[in-house]
This record gives sequence, C-alpha cells and structure tokens, in this order.
Amino acid sequence: MERTLAIIKPDAVAAQHVGAILQRIEGAGFEIRAMRLVRLSRADAEGFYAVHRERPFFGSLTAFMSSGPAVALALEAPEAIRKWRELMGATDPAKADAGTIRRDFGGSIEHNATHGSDAPETAAFELAYFFAGVELAGT
Ligand code: GDP
Repeated sequence: MERTLAIIKPDAVAAQHVGAILQRIEGAGFEIRAMRLVRLSRADAEGFYAVHRERPFFGSLTAFMSSGPAVALALEAPEAIRKWRELMGATDPAKADAGTIRRDFGGSIEHNATHGSDAPETAAFELAYFFAGVELAGT
C-alpha cells in the first residue's frame, strides 16, 4: 500500500466540483485516509510549493492556491502516487486525456482542479504538511 497527498484546488472547490471529484477518487478504488477543508495563507502556499520558487509562475500559483478554500486528502492504494496522477491527467487540462479530472474540471494550466504528489519523498513531505501523525495513525 502507498499513500499520496491530493488537493482539490480552490478553483474546483469554488466551482462546486468537490463531490464529483470525490466520487472519482472512490470510484477508482482509493481509500480516503484523511480529509480536511483548508484555507492556505500565502506563506503556507509558498512553503508547500517551495521546490517551484524559481519558476516564473510561482507568484501567480501561490496567490491562486491561497485564494480560497481547498480540500486536502490522504489517499491510499497500491501505487497510489502513480494511480492518482493518472486519474488527474496532464498538468495542462488542454493536453490531458479525455476522462481525466483535469480535462473535465480544469480551466487552465494553473487552475487545473487538483494536485498530486509526484514521488514517495514528496508524498511524505506533503502528507506531513497537512496532516499530523495522529490523524494518519491507525487508519
Ligand atoms: P503537476 O505536478 O502536474 O501539478 O505540475 P508541476 O509540479 O509542474 O506544477 C505545479 C503546479 O503549478 C501545477 O499543477 C499548476 O497549477 C502550476 N503550473 C505548472 N506549470 C505552469 C505554467 O506553465 N504556468 C502557470 N501559470 N502555472 C503552472
């Protein structure tokens, strides 16, 4: 079993797509191990995306991620990291495969509905960023 951090981003929460996205998560066989509605401060978003701080879109991305409530989830499944990224689709919704979450709910390369960890090390960092050990223990 593997765990990954998923975020339903502020664009998808504002558009009331939380229910539809959770349905896809459960339909794909993930176990939801933790879930919380979060409102990131700008500093929270900057800390979360620290690896991207040199990218030209860092300011815009962190402003977007702190623009409204988001939903953070700990998802568990065999190969959860790869499987969740597959279900989300490519970063740019216009290039994402038909039937993927980003293709169906994303509006732009930045406002792309969901986030997913990209490797075991980032998943460990990102899960700990949102969930205390006690929330994940014993589940
Ligand atoms: P991901 O792993 O598919 O989320 O993609 P990245 O790690 O490369 O980028 C992190 C997030 O930054 C993406 O999910 C987008 O919200 C945003 N992003 C990525 N590339 C671009 C870009 O070229 N322009 C803008 N404005 N945002 C981007």
